[in-house]
Amino acid sequence: MIDTHCHVLKEEMNNYIDIIKECDSKDISMIINGYDNKSNKEVIELANKYSNVYSAIGLNYDGIDNFTYKDLEDLEELIKSNKIVAIGEIGLDYYWTKDNKDKQIYFFKKQLELSEKYNLPVIIHARESIQDTYDILKNYKVKGTMHCYSGSLEMAKEFIKLGFKIGIDGPITYKNNVKGVSVVEGIPIESILLETDSPYLSPEPNRGLQNSPLNLIYIAEKIADIKGISTEEVISKTTENAKELFNI
Ligand SMILES: [Zn+2]
Repeated sequence: MIDTHCHVLKEEMNNYIDIIKECDSKDISMIINGYDNKSNKEVIELANKYSNVYSAIGLNYDGIDNFTYKDLEDLEELIKSNKIVAIGEIGLDYYWTKDNKDKQIYFFKKQLELSEKYNLPVIIHARESIQDTYDILKNYKVKGTMHCYSGSLEMAKEFIKLGFKIGIDGPITYKNNVKGVSVVEGIPIESILLETDSPYLSPEPNRGLQNSPLNLIYIAEKIADIKGISTEEVISKTTENAKELFNI
């Protein structure tokens, strides 16, 4: 299995090294996502050290107020000199604030340009910003994944038409997630990627606890249940999808 989106990093979890090693013993790989150049460098170090770790690097919305053009230049240097499978986590988040919307959009577009330039897929964060995200993405020749997708089935189909996969994580296991279930029901398994967003969003039955890629199985089981196929099939298809998209 491949966890296509997680933050198994020192700042996020005390036991991150133990988790990477335990995942390796269980044949679980992970794409660790950075969000600023400090975490990006850490992701690259981990990927160089552990064979089940792949790196995605990017400048995400949370640090946006402090980012300068220099951060973009540094990011490009990191992309050029290291084995990176994607640019991410990047995107727009209007849930916390819309005040810095213009700056969020500027950094988002700049990183989509890098994705085109280096022919790398993107890992997209979109919270209460689905329409803006779509309107921007459609102008670039990029492919990637809509991480922790929370939009409608209709919009999911539009992202798929652009060449995107839909990342499904812990919330799909939560009671009453009618929208999430309708998305999984309505899109083909070829468009689904498994992810945890660890240490956040732990699936049932571990909801509320620190999440880790070891919980990926609960998400695969829920998708199998919704689609009426075996868990093995979900695992093998989504692993293929991830390998293809990220060139692993
Ligand atoms: Zn994330």
